[in-house]
Amino acid sequence: TALLEIRDLRAEVIGEGVEILKGVNLIINKGETHALMGPNGSGKSTLAHVIMGNPKYRVTSGDILFEGQSILNLSTDERARLGLFLSFQIPEEIEGIKMRQFLINSYRNIHSKDERTLLDLNKSISELTQKLDLNQDFLERYINTGFSGGEKKKSEILQMGFLKPKLCILDEIDSGLDIDALRIVSESLNSFRTEEMGILLITHYQRILNYVVPDFVHVYIDGRIVMTGKKELAEEIEEMGYSIIERELGINI
Ligand code: ADP
Ligand code: MG
Ligand code: MG
Repeated sequence: TALLEIRDLRAEVIGEGVEILKGVNLIINKGETHALMGPNGSGKSTLAHVIMGNPKYRVTSGDILFEGQSILNLSTDERARLGLFLSFQIPEEIEGIKMRQFLINSYRNIHSKDERTLLDLNKSISELTQKLDLNQDFLERYINTGFSGGEKKKSEILQMGFLKPKLCILDEIDSGLDIDALRIVSESLNSFRTEEMGILLITHYQRILNYVVPDFVHVYIDGRIVMTGKKELAEEIEEMGYSIIERELGINI
């Protein structure tokens, strides 16, 4: 069975009644990296939020299966415990909760049967923090509060590395990063991921795909995947823009 299977998924914003996901089909197996590329406003972040069960959106038809089971009726928290993880395009600032505490609490919540000691957990957190080229006092700061753009993205990768989800959805983890931060974030992502992990990498730009090499590239326009290819497809888009897709498929973006 696939890690994630999305079947003809349609969804709208609650209260607005406007359909944003217009029939998404996608299968991600264990160990695969999928890049999802598309113009601004095409509904990429909405797809990520709907997979995680954000209550702002309503699924009107279709299904989302995780390891063969429909997750549509599960809360976001339950989905996280099954092993789904979303790194937000715009990470939220949460004053009053320190990074380290947040990581430990999340770990205990998601891996409730795990018997690792607090000392052991703290040791991994410190190692991961170091790999991300972050100072240890980063862990004593409130979540994302006053973090630079790069620090916010690193904080998301730190969570991914520590929580070890089965499926990582990374929404524009590369946006706003300078070339050095992009390299550190990408290399950390590669070293923190496990062989079993599936990755859905949402991005506007091809450059992160030089580091995190995708098995598949999906072009996402107006609420659905309109084309799928290998990593060369991302290079073509980078070079020629989405207009080549428009021409090839005869659609208007
Ligand atoms: P992308 O991530 O591809 O840039 P989004 O998923 O952020 O696209 O947005 C797709 C469309 O859905 C946009 O027109 C956006 O305004 C609309 N949209 C998304 N979420 C909401 C919401 N919570 N309320 C109203 N409109 C929304
Ligand atoms: Mg956008
Ligand atoms: Mg977005």
